[in-house]
Amino acid sequence: MPVNQAIILASRPKGAASLENFTLVENPVPEPQTGQVLVRHLFLSLDPYMRGRMNEGRSYAAAQALGEVMIGGTVGEVIASKNPRFKIADKVVGMGGWQTHALSDGRDLHRLDGSVPLSACLGPVGMPGVTAWYGLKKIIAPKPGETLVVTAASGAVGSVVGQLAKIAGARVVGVAGGTAKCAYVVQELGFDACVDHRATDFQAEFNRATAGGINGLFENVGGEVLSMSLRRLNPFARIAICGLVASGYDGTPTPVKDISNMLTMRARMQGFIVTEHLAIWPQALAELSALVASGKLKYRESIVEGLAAAPQAFLGLLKGENFGKMLVKVG
Ligand code: NDP
Repeated sequence: MPVNQAIILASRPKGAASLENFTLVENPVPEPQTGQVLVRHLFLSLDPYMRGRMNEGRSYAAAQALGEVMIGGTVGEVIASKNPRFKIADKVVGMGGWQTHALSDGRDLHRLDGSVPLSACLGPVGMPGVTAWYGLKKIIAPKPGETLVVTAASGAVGSVVGQLAKIAGARVVGVAGGTAKCAYVVQELGFDACVDHRATDFQAEFNRATAGGINGLFENVGGEVLSMSLRRLNPFARIAICGLVASGYDGTPTPVKDISNMLTMRARMQGFIVTEHLAIWPQALAELSALVASGKLKYRESIVEGLAAAPQAFLGLLKGENFGKMLVKVG
């Protein structure tokens, strides 16, 4: 009998997440009932938001239930269908979770047209790309010549933010961990500068790269770099709070300093959750898809092989060990 491998949340982290929080289980692959589709997963997306779901507490979404398959975006192939909207061999994107197969009633599935590589539908032409599009266009709305700072600049979201901002005519300064990531951000993605937050002279380099001040900040990381950016704000700066991966996902929140700059610079700071803005997804995906298909929007992937590799890869993502969109090649 074919086997479905799945990774469940076995326990909630106390402080940093660890391998013990996950368990690999095996079950028979289920049979689709009337209206259902069976999908064999090809790629699983690993994303920082999953760390938040492992905790209990007040948030924008319910906590991941203990003993249940970890939540996650997937791309896969339909291998059995009792739903008239899908046929065998259709390629679909959905929320199948950390498992090799998933049953769906089809409501969360979107058929892919093959205009971009399948894995890109979990990256620049998927949730991370739409996140970049929304935060940049709807919150920061950069004007030509303005300076924008993007943290986690080489990552799935940050890499798209910076390239879209360049297309909009902004000057873009990235922040990334390590010389290889910074070189990629400038040489391959076309940012104007990138500052290495692991370098000893980070603060001086950051101040140099933002000497004319900051009009927009796309914040993916939080922690000290957020405070440093607040000190560089220009009047009427816009800050999109997209993620705070270094500021409490995995432990104690890092305090934000120098908030008084928000007042003196009449700045605006706005958090957002991309899944609450479904109306803009079709337009954003169409634009991102065209940019990727034409080669104008570049992206990079960190791919590990096999579902069993997912927990370790996920823990690495939370420490910056990924270089580009973190994916698991499931099948
Ligand atoms: P990335 O591909 O950017 O990977 C995460 C990156 O964060 C790492 O590569 C690393 O980059 C950086 N990082 C991780 N841990 C630390 C740390 N302790 N200190 C400093 N940097 C760290 O992930 P995504 O592009 O998928 O996500 C980026 C952000 O966007 C996350 O905060 C995520 O939660 C958020 N997000 C928010 C959404 C929303 O709706 N608001 C939707 C999707 C994502 P480096 O090595 O360069 O430091």
